[in-house]
Amino acid sequence: MPSDLIISEDIKSIVEETQNAIIEYFQDTLGESFDESKRNRLQQVFNTFSVISEDAGTIHYYGGRCSCINKKIEINRDINVYLNEMKNGMNKKSKIMLELIHEYGHAFSNINRLIIDFEDLSSISHFEEGMQNIFSELVLNHYFKKNNIQANAISTGYGKEENSLPRTILYSMSKNDEYNNAMAEYLLGNKQKFLSMFLPQKIVRAQKLYGNMISLNFSLKDVFDMRPDAFKQINEDSIFCYQNNMIYAFWLQNFVPENILCNEFLDCSSKEEILLKYEKKYQKKILFEDEKTTCITPNLPEPKITPADATRSALKMTTANNTKEANNIEHQESTSTLECTKDVNQQDDQ
Ligand SMILES: [Zn+2]
Repeated sequence: MPSDLIISEDIKSIVEETQNAIIEYFQDTLGESFDESKRNRLQQVFNTFSVISEDAGTIHYYGGRCSCINKKIEINRDINVYLNEMKNGMNKKSKIMLELIHEYGHAFSNINRLIIDFEDLSSISHFEEGMQNIFSELVLNHYFKKNNIQANAISTGYGKEENSLPRTILYSMSKNDEYNNAMAEYLLGNKQKFLSMFLPQKIVRAQKLYGNMISLNFSLKDVFDMRPDAFKQINEDSIFCYQNNMIYAFWLQNFVPENILCNEFLDCSSKEEILLKYEKKYQKKILFEDEKTTCITPNLPEPKITPADATRSALKMTTANNTKEANNIEHQESTSTLECTKDVNQQDDQ
């Protein structure tokens, strides 16, 4: 262990517990797929990233921050546990763990990144933040379950814009808990392999990779077509439905013959809402008969949008109705950021 590694004394025991919780999650969910190379990436981060606790004044409103350049994670030690988290049974310690898992996730995911320019940074960071939100929830809920703690971890730092696409993708892999492998591949493995788990090969090859970072550009239809059956019914209790208003557009796609996976439906937050909107717009009613529809939809061009565009527009529509509410929440919410500084280390993804 390098001598310049610092773990702040006041949160040392929480850091150790969090590291163990992360290791346990991978061990329990991956089994033999938790191979040497993944274990090495994990240990590399634990052994080289300092974890510093900061007071709220220093770190502003953030819950945490991760710099892959300085190999440093900062955690807000005065972190507030806001109301919805207390309702979920979380306390201050578990909130710190949640933030810490999120920041460690950034470190796993970006340790070998190579950024040349930031043209596509918004799509990278939106997807990345959403993935770390889910990662922190998966790890902490696994930890709660193992220790018989009555709590439910949910991340509140980011909203639907960041969460919808990764949650929808992972939802499609709910069968046999395949999403755990996808999460491990994203964080500790190879991003190209991760993409292959939900996109056809020709689309995977068209994505840009910066070391271990990906810039995404695919249509939502590409994702849907890989596993249409996964969206026949939506289990609304799934962790992947939380903070996700994209999933209903995928669900609707099962019942219409045209490609309608486009921005205009991404603001809908329930099946009922999306049906109403669809019927109003096209003056067609969807009739469900054995999961088949008898309606005819107009010809729509297949939308070629980036996930960031889709989610950004979804958020815009959602927040337009809730601007006041959103403004109120903003200053209370703690968020985590990935510090995106130009990385000159020419490291290749292994
Ligand atoms: Zn983050």
